[in-house]
Amino acid sequence: MCGIIGYIGEKPAGKILLNGLRKLEYRGYDSAGMLLLNKDKFTRIRSVGDIDKLEKKINGQWPKGKMGIAHTRWATHGGVTEKNAHPHFGRAKEVAIIHNGIIENYRELKEKYLKNHKFSSQTDTEVLAHLIEKYHQKHPLKKAVESALKKVHGTFGLAVISKKEPDKIIAGRSGSPLAIGVGDNQYFLASDATPLLTHTRKIIYLDDGEIAIIKKNNSYIYKIGNNNQINKKAQNIDWNTEEAQKGGFPHFMIKEIYDQREVFMDAIRGRLRPKEGSAQMGGFNLKDKEAQKIDRIILLACGTAYYSCLVGKYLFERLAQIPTEAEIGSEYRYRNPVIDNKTLVFSVSQSGETLDTLVSQREAKRKGAYVRGIVNVVGSTIAREADGGTYIHAGPELSVASSKAFTNMLAILTLYALYFGRLHKMSFETGNKIIKELEKIPGKINLILKQNEKIKKIAYKYSKYQNMLYLGRGINYPIALEGSHKLKELSYIHSEAYPAGEMKHGVNALLDKDFPVAAIATKNNLYEKMISNLEEIKARKSPFFVIATKGDKNIQRMTSDIIYVPKTIEILEPILNVIPLQLFAYHCAVKLKRNVDRPRNLAKSVTVE
Ligand code: GLU
Repeated sequence: MCGIIGYIGEKPAGKILLNGLRKLEYRGYDSAGMLLLNKDKFTRIRSVGDIDKLEKKINGQWPKGKMGIAHTRWATHGGVTEKNAHPHFGRAKEVAIIHNGIIENYRELKEKYLKNHKFSSQTDTEVLAHLIEKYHQKHPLKKAVESALKKVHGTFGLAVISKKEPDKIIAGRSGSPLAIGVGDNQYFLASDATPLLTHTRKIIYLDDGEIAIIKKNNSYIYKIGNNNQINKKAQNIDWNTEEAQKGGFPHFMIKEIYDQREVFMDAIRGRLRPKEGSAQMGGFNLKDKEAQKIDRIILLACGTAYYSCLVGKYLFERLAQIPTEAEIGSEYRYRNPVIDNKTLVFSVSQSGETLDTLVSQREAKRKGAYVRGIVNVVGSTIAREADGGTYIHAGPELSVASSKAFTNMLAILTLYALYFGRLHKMSFETGNKIIKELEKIPGKINLILKQNEKIKKIAYKYSKYQNMLYLGRGINYPIALEGSHKLKELSYIHSEAYPAGEMKHGVNALLDKDFPVAAIATKNNLYEKMISNLEEIKARKSPFFVIATKGDKNIQRMTSDIIYVPKTIEILEPILNVIPLQLFAYHCAVKLKRNVDRPRNLAKSVTVE
């Protein structure tokens, strides 16, 4: 998820690597490290905190070596400590690796192949380092890496060097990006083009499932496990640094909306239990027997995370029949909430530092509830103070307005609801159906993203209005709220969201030709009702666009502003339906020339009351 840089050439590698890390800082990270190989000596320097701290550690004593690897870590497995920072060694310290991503089956690998090994970190990465080195005792480095990767479930962008083969860096990719920089008598490797552009404009992007041998005069690319070289030409990249950071997208917001294709899988990977039709979250720290006694769930959050919790309420009640409330952190902390030792509280926060949520969590804990976190940032305060919980694995989110953290929160809440459902009355078949549908979500997200141009056109049309009304029903009502929230944050257009059935109790009075509506009318058990609501809107001449299920022709007689989303089961509709609304808000903001990634008056992590 975070940053990788590698160098092999004729210049001292230390400064090149450090400067490369600085260029990768924008990706967000919690610790950093580098390793140089000089003759047969590794020098490794690591530090918690920023690159300045790492440079301070070097203290002008640049390690020797003309090749090396360096890394900025965004912890996923193991806290933010120097010991957990990369690079990691194999057992005999013959091999060193840096890795972005998640080795989901690292525990299994440890038990099966590395029985007597001692590990110096808590990371998943170190297990991979040991495994590669083990195979390297018998095989050349490329083959050793391939043999280890064959056993791995998860995502990786990785770079490996070995004392035994000091003329190369091996790089492999599955899920986490990697780019090779082609120079004269020097080659580079990085997570993206940003740190490479000061050295070269010639870039080769690795694709998923590829492995590269990088030497100082050439690079050789293969499919992992295959010895037939792939002929890949370098592209000439004329992006400036800022464009490169955003991977060619104009803003982090849109890049992160697109990231959802990949990171959704990171949330669910390794947590599904198809054989039981259930899910299992490693850090939940509650035995099934104890969990069965939970008779009330409270979901604490603020802002976008709160809307994910409103979906969570539907999920827990529908799948598990456990009374559930979503509570706004800043309100909850000042109430005298009813809590007992059968109450389970989830604190949901991207940063894990949201003060209102944190303080509410403390209150719940004091009153004897089970308290668990659902957060993105590993080692954050909410994660530390909770008695367990689950990381959403969305990767660093740099845009102030959230997108991928929201969908990954929905993913985790769905997994918990599934788990609780199976502890109670849900059948194996229902559980299994949910699992199967969850696995199809990334592909379906992709299909929605392909309609970006169409959504942009609709957004440009509607961005001229001063107001907007978002409507949804049932499990999609919170998505109307989140869509409206996104529009406010990004475009500063005033908007409201209502459950469509409420319109007749007041909101209808607002409707006229200058008050447009965004309606979620996907095909679920409230579809007919939603259609009636749309008729009412049409009668009042409000312009409107609709999010509808692919193949629904009925809608076409009402409006031509339709965004189709693929069919899924009702409980997963929110995950798909929010994507067009994110894109809509984004394009409105661009059209209105707003500061998309840094909206006025807002902060990413709200650590004040
Ligand atoms: N899973 C690895 C860790 O926690 C890599 C994290 C990253 O992508 O930076 O160390």
